[in-house]
Amino acid sequence: MYFQKPNLRANDFPSSSPSTWGTVSPENWGDWTWQLRNRIQTLEQLESRLELTGEERAGTILAGKKLALGITPHFFGLIDRNDPNCPIRRQVVPRIEESYTAPDEMLDPCGEDSNMPVPGLVHRYPDRALLLVTDRCASYCRYCTRSRVVSGAGEQELTMDMEGAFSYLEKHPEVRDVLLSGGDPLLLSDAKLNAILTRLRQIPSLEFIRIGTRIPIFLPQRITRELVTMLKQHHPIWMSVHSNHPKELTHEVRSALERLADAGIPLGNQSVLLKGVNDRSDVLKELFHKLLLCRVRPYYLYQCDLITGSAHLRTTIREGQEIMEQLRGHTTGYAVPTYVVDGPGGGGKIPIGPSYIVGMADDRVILKNYKGDVYEYPEISQTRLAGLRG
Ligand code: SF4
Repeated sequence: MYFQKPNLRANDFPSSSPSTWGTVSPENWGDWTWQLRNRIQTLEQLESRLELTGEERAGTILAGKKLALGITPHFFGLIDRNDPNCPIRRQVVPRIEESYTAPDEMLDPCGEDSNMPVPGLVHRYPDRALLLVTDRCASYCRYCTRSRVVSGAGEQELTMDMEGAFSYLEKHPEVRDVLLSGGDPLLLSDAKLNAILTRLRQIPSLEFIRIGTRIPIFLPQRITRELVTMLKQHHPIWMSVHSNHPKELTHEVRSALERLADAGIPLGNQSVLLKGVNDRSDVLKELFHKLLLCRVRPYYLYQCDLITGSAHLRTTIREGQEIMEQLRGHTTGYAVPTYVVDGPGGGGKIPIGPSYIVGMADDRVILKNYKGDVYEYPEISQTRLAGLRG
């Protein structure tokens, strides 16, 4: 039987065109190594292509002391150069507000450093571990929760002891799930990534390997046939991608995600709720619908961590809950992620609702639905069961 692909509207997935860059051949544009070599990394490179606001210029001058500037030509091509509030621009162009430290902000808001039994390996949950395999990314997100070590510009250096991490995992068979992160693991060469995955697969207690990456969004050209052929030799491999705004889902990104999905890699998405970027239910709904068209399940919506210099990008949790209320029940459940906050200082992920339970008693639970209508769910109890028996 012949299955036709769903009729994706081309306009929903526009291209990040080479014409936004100037003179570049389509071959170079489609080559991930060219994209990396031609990243915007200095104030001069940025200013030659974008008229900066005073806040952006001052922020970019300071960026080298905290989190480096880095934007791939592909992602830069999505910026609306006439709009200083462009949601793509707000995510990657530094601003002076990054140098302000609000009360309660932290360099390590998820408490990773204090849960590292081996350099580069975070073991906080009983059966899961996080393995940091690089400190580099294709582009740098201005709200990065790991900016203390990512990009090489911050206060700390990421130290990794890969052999130490492998032997720790061998001695801790309770860990059945490892998440590779960084930095961005897909920035490693195929050979290096293959070596890490091969070594992990030699640890019998490891069932589940996940890769956390923003490469399919920042650098979709990196998702080559060779890469996916290598990845699928290590199944089951799962992947969490990271996209925040529907504009990020271009034609090239959709093709990259399809290549991964066709290789049998289940794809989930993690978004960060960011002020002025995606803090509206219509924007998030469009993002989540487009992700489903790309065969990616919206998985988590993160409340922005209390990372130093992020106050201008953070919403309140109340605002986040209101957005979730406008999604839950108003669109397909697969398009509604779980809204979570990382407990500041190392508490792990905590779902933050909103709650649809209005009240609870021993014999009933009072609930409201997405329209606010109230329902009562009677609980089964020994007394009721006895009554049934007569
Ligand atoms: S891709 Fe991830 S690790 Fe890299 S800068 Fe963005 S949030 Fe940080």
